[in-house]
Amino acid sequence: QVRVRFAPSPTGALHIGGVRTALYNYLFARKTGGKMLLRIEDTDQTRFVEGAENYILEALNWVGITIDEGQSVGGAHAPYRQSERKPIYMEYAKKLLDSGKAYYAFDTSEELDAMRQTFESQGSAFQYNAISRTRLKNSLTLSAEEVEAKLSAGEPYVIRLKVPAKEEIRFKDLIREWVVVHSSAVDDKVLMKSDGMPTYHLANVVDDHLMEISHVIRGEEWLPSAPLHILLYRAFGWEDTMPKFAHLPLLLKPEGNGKLSKRDADLGGFPVFPLEWNDPVSGNVARGFREDGYLKDAVVNFLAFLGWNPGTEQEMFTMDELIEAFSLERISKSGAKFDINKAKWFNQQYLKLQSDEELAKQYLSDVELEKAVKIVHLFKERVTFPQEIVQEAQFLFNAPENYDEAIVSSKWNDDAKKGIVAFKEALPALDNFVAEEIKHLLSAELEKAGIKMGKIMQMLRVAITGVGAGPDLMLSMEIMGKTEVLARLEKAVS
Ligand code: GLU
Repeated sequence: QVRVRFAPSPTGALHIGGVRTALYNYLFARKTGGKMLLRIEDTDQTRFVEGAENYILEALNWVGITIDEGQSVGGAHAPYRQSERKPIYMEYAKKLLDSGKAYYAFDTSEELDAMRQTFESQGSAFQYNAISRTRLKNSLTLSAEEVEAKLSAGEPYVIRLKVPAKEEIRFKDLIREWVVVHSSAVDDKVLMKSDGMPTYHLANVVDDHLMEISHVIRGEEWLPSAPLHILLYRAFGWEDTMPKFAHLPLLLKPEGNGKLSKRDADLGGFPVFPLEWNDPVSGNVARGFREDGYLKDAVVNFLAFLGWNPGTEQEMFTMDELIEAFSLERISKSGAKFDINKAKWFNQQYLKLQSDEELAKQYLSDVELEKAVKIVHLFKERVTFPQEIVQEAQFLFNAPENYDEAIVSSKWNDDAKKGIVAFKEALPALDNFVAEEIKHLLSAELEKAGIKMGKIMQMLRVAITGVGAGPDLMLSMEIMGKTEVLARLEKAVS
């Protein structure tokens, strides 16, 4: 059975790329009839941020990703929060100590710095490896008695993986294909830290094993860790049940030149987080797709297409259709450009599909419903974000304070005046004040006066709205109501 997990660290707001990772895991789980787990990887206490876990849950919930096992819904492998699984990691680290696959290390940071300098003076990057481990202070170089003495004296220690000297690590990533790394390129990574907490690597592998994860689907930034993880599976003797790996392509800057960063978002005027985030550390507020007016369906489609495509022309998918169409085979190797215009396009499309009434209730709740529905109808096709409807509708509620000068000076002639006055005089008698009737009345009056409608339309618009362009004028008048239109015309011709 397919079992996948989304394993975020609550170190701040969930990046939009994280939502994509969650989405792909979710689609794969649903497509295969498998299970989707949410595991909170919070073992790095120095980077823990208050509120981040809730934020993750809210973000997943907003886009419609449901989980089958996790802290909030329970499951056979609870707890799903790593900080609550602490004893498990020590138990497994001990197993590796016992089998000689890991060792205690007592090096102080000064000793590590000195070793780092030795490496650097030889022009190479520091590695705690077969060479350095023989020169540092650890249970491979100290006698068993010395180790015992240090442990019982409470000296701080870490537990490191003893990386085999000459082993090839070879695995077939479901997206990247064959990856081959030599063990000499992997250092003796810390598995348990001096605070008694596991590192990401140990906790991640132990939990993926215990939680019977079948596929690890995660961002490409974790690809360099995969060889180490494979060594860990080997060290534990779990190679047979090792999950398959699928590393998702990077999200690139809109121009494709490098990895998407928070700074690009600021410069490009778009959010990189699903929801607004009040950062408790910096005090800053980061913009969110939701608060910016993106509809969740638009975000889901946008994310689905960042690194995957259905191989057909279809562009708009419901979640169920995505599940149906999704496959790991159609995920691309190359990075995906974060083109916010595509997200906007999706938003326009999904906005059009929303019912006028829903939008009216949600965004124009202080306007009488019948009128609000008309307003939505008037603007829905013209805007990208729902809140723009409210902004654009302002002229319906507020009479113009001044009039477009350029239009007035070129179009405010005798005919315009005559036509608009005739229209104004005839209006009070119009009982059924709806767009069609208003138009009817206007053309009848203009015909009587011998004036062409096209000649005065723009001036009429300026008289009523102050500006020369906007949505359908007859409908706009209907929404304003007779009294308001009369008052505006009165003011304009006076
Ligand atoms: N905790 C890691 C993260 O924050 C999980 C990476 C993985 O999926 O293995 O992304």
